[in-house]
Amino acid sequence: MVAQHPQYTPPDIRASSLATARQLLLQTLFVAGVVFLASGLGILTRPESQLATFWPTNALLLGLFARRPALASPAGWAAAALGYVAADLLTGTSLPTTLRLTAANLAGVLAGYLVFRRLREEDRRLLHPLSMLWVLAASAAAAVCASAVGSLTAHALMGMDWLTASGFWFSAELVSYVTLLPVVLLAPSPTRAARALRHRLGRIRQRPMLLAPLLALVLAALLGVAIGGPGAIAFPVPALLWCALAYRLFTTAVVSALLCMWTLIAIAHGIIDLQLPDQSAHPVISLRIGMALLAVAPLTVASVNAARNQLLATLNHAADHDALTGVLNRSAFLRRGLQLAEHMQRTGGTVVAMMLDIDHFKSVNDRHGHAAGDEVLTTFAARMRDHLREDGLFGRFGGEEFAVLLPGVDAAAALAVAERLRLLASAPIPRDEGRPLDITVSVGVASAPARVVGLEQLLSQADVALYRAKAMGRNRVIGG
Ligand code: GH3
Ligand code: MG
Ligand code: MG
Repeated sequence: MVAQHPQYTPPDIRASSLATARQLLLQTLFVAGVVFLASGLGILTRPESQLATFWPTNALLLGLFARRPALASPAGWAAAALGYVAADLLTGTSLPTTLRLTAANLAGVLAGYLVFRRLREEDRRLLHPLSMLWVLAASAAAAVCASAVGSLTAHALMGMDWLTASGFWFSAELVSYVTLLPVVLLAPSPTRAARALRHRLGRIRQRPMLLAPLLALVLAALLGVAIGGPGAIAFPVPALLWCALAYRLFTTAVVSALLCMWTLIAIAHGIIDLQLPDQSAHPVISLRIGMALLAVAPLTVASVNAARNQLLATLNHAADHDALTGVLNRSAFLRRGLQLAEHMQRTGGTVVAMMLDIDHFKSVNDRHGHAAGDEVLTTFAARMRDHLREDGLFGRFGGEEFAVLLPGVDAAAALAVAERLRLLASAPIPRDEGRPLDITVSVGVASAPARVVGLEQLLSQADVALYRAKAMGRNRVIGG
């Protein structure tokens, strides 16, 4: 007879499915919490039995789902629905209205999400010149769907005709999506944000002029208050563009969002007087759409700038570093070496140059193949770089020849450093395939007070010492 074993689940599988369930629960609670709190904030700004003037929830939710598609699971959507419903019911909205408002909100977020799902990662991070136009497209899709579903409720709530209600709903959604989505999409983690803020404040203390674009923006906003009239909403455009060129993408997104919010609030409370002929719904709808479209310009400029900066950084890195080993190449080493030598000439002190050349490297290639030779070069370079102090320079001069420049080190200490490098190089070099390889290196060292000897002279002294090390049998350190 065969014994019947109860179905067995290995403990690690059980533990991992428990962890997955816990993670799902946490994510669901997180989505419900964000929606509930943001909706609460929106409802607080809602005039009696009307729609909210500021409704951040939908843009927040769409931004969250776009950044973390794992959150947009069926459980995530259900949690969002729960958050909307709870916030409205708890603040006294009737159940039928609550359900209709929630349907409109979710319809908008879903439409925006479907557009976002088609976008590339670089567009979601606003790193392409067209990214902001895609964000505008997603925002418009979301606003159209939300207003299509919601205008029926708006009509009942506010007693407007259907077309005006749609326009009201569409424009309110559009402006909050276009201004808040970039902030959510680009928001750094709290630890990164705190680090970046400390760094930025330090830089501002050194160069207060960094605040000039922000001050110009405040001045332009004040000018809008002082002069007023329909053109006032465009007064801050040049300052916004300056911010976009001077600050990071995220900062530009925050500044643009704050300016849009300020402008809408200031107009609503008569602080900025646009001197519009009548108080009907039409100018408000037009103003909101105008503000949303205005925010696209600085963020597009910031995206182009960020993409350009990223490209420049990649090109600069490629121009300065050796493609195989990732350490400085000859020209970058010499350029930075000259700067270091000039600095040492001003401050005094000794500079040390070393030339390192792997022994009989040609035979590594001949016996084990070129790929094995490349592995040796990569590991060798990484070991040397990791061992050297951060204020020193290390670079590949060509083939299997490397150079080191150390500031503020005397001759005896330099020989000790070189000896440690020689020993490090001789440790077996592991390979992806095949047995580890043993190599040795010869090192020529030269040191002199920076005021007396120039960089080129010092390097050629180290080169002469290297030749002597080779001539004396290799695998040794010789001082010049
Ligand atoms: P010595 O002890 O006198 O320095 O002898 P050596 O064999 O190390 O020196 P030699 O100058 O005769 O040979 C250097 C070899 O390095 C020849 C060249 O094919 C090889 N080499 C140069 N660049 C690379 C590279 O990027 N990858 C690989 N795998 N080999 C390279
Ligand atoms: Mg060699
Ligand atoms: Mg050589």
